[in-house]
Amino acid sequence: MVHYGLRPDKHQRSLCPFHADKTPSLQLYPKTASFCCFSSNCSAGTGDVIWFIELMDKCSTHAAIMKA
Ligand SMILES: [Zn+2]
Repeated sequence: MVHYGLRPDKHQRSLCPFHADKTPSLQLYPKTASFCCFSSNCSAGTGDVIWFIELMDKCSTHAAIMKA
């Protein structure tokens, strides 16, 4: 996920690219390749790297799996 421009801090938190984020509210879980956005006004919610790529590239699940 880092190659999508995320710069997670030492707590693996990053500014969420899916909503207007001023404080890092996107928690990354590198071990499981998943993420969770803690903001209540964000549509990303919780998901894995496939879902992340779908949101970032606005592509289909199949296309996301091919990229992952
Ligand atoms: Zn978010």
